[in-house]
Amino acid sequence: MPATEYRVRVERNRLKFAAAHFATFEGSCEPLHGHNYAVTIEVAGTLTDDAWVADFSTLKTLGRALCDELDHKFLLQRDSRVLQVDEGMSNWKVRFLERGFVFPKSDVIALPIDNTTAERLAEWFAGRLRDGLRARGASNLTSLIVGVEEAPGQAGWCEMALGA
Ligand SMILES: [Zn+2]
Repeated sequence: MPATEYRVRVERNRLKFAAAHFATFEGSCEPLHGHNYAVTIEVAGTLTDDAWVADFSTLKTLGRALCDELDHKFLLQRDSRVLQVDEGMSNWKVRFLERGFVFPKSDVIALPIDNTTAERLAEWFAGRLRDGLRARGASNLTSLIVGVEEAPGQAGWCEMALGA
């Protein structure tokens, strides 16, 4: 850990998306509902020679692209241990006990997560942002923190180390 660490944060504006989901909890399943999600992205690291941690516009561009992938979709926890999830040719079939749903694939983003909690969504964002930042050669960054807010004042966070 460097002695002096700096952070930059981007949020609001276009770092948001509207989506439907149901999370599972202690063997039960929420009713289908939606949120106007808002995303906060923070990166920590040392300063570059130009005295930057990261370019704000890069963070916003990467974050906005991920929000666009989720916007106006059903967020499917493809790896759920509670839901029965079956991929068909043109739709996803999702079953929880006697409740069954059939979603056209065009309306679904199938995420490699076990539950669509704000924490897991934040982790998904963090992993994809890490890949995007690495691809751009951001070697001065030490960690990435993502917050996914489901409603004002109600957010899940994930902090991911960005070791070399
Ligand atoms: Zn919800």
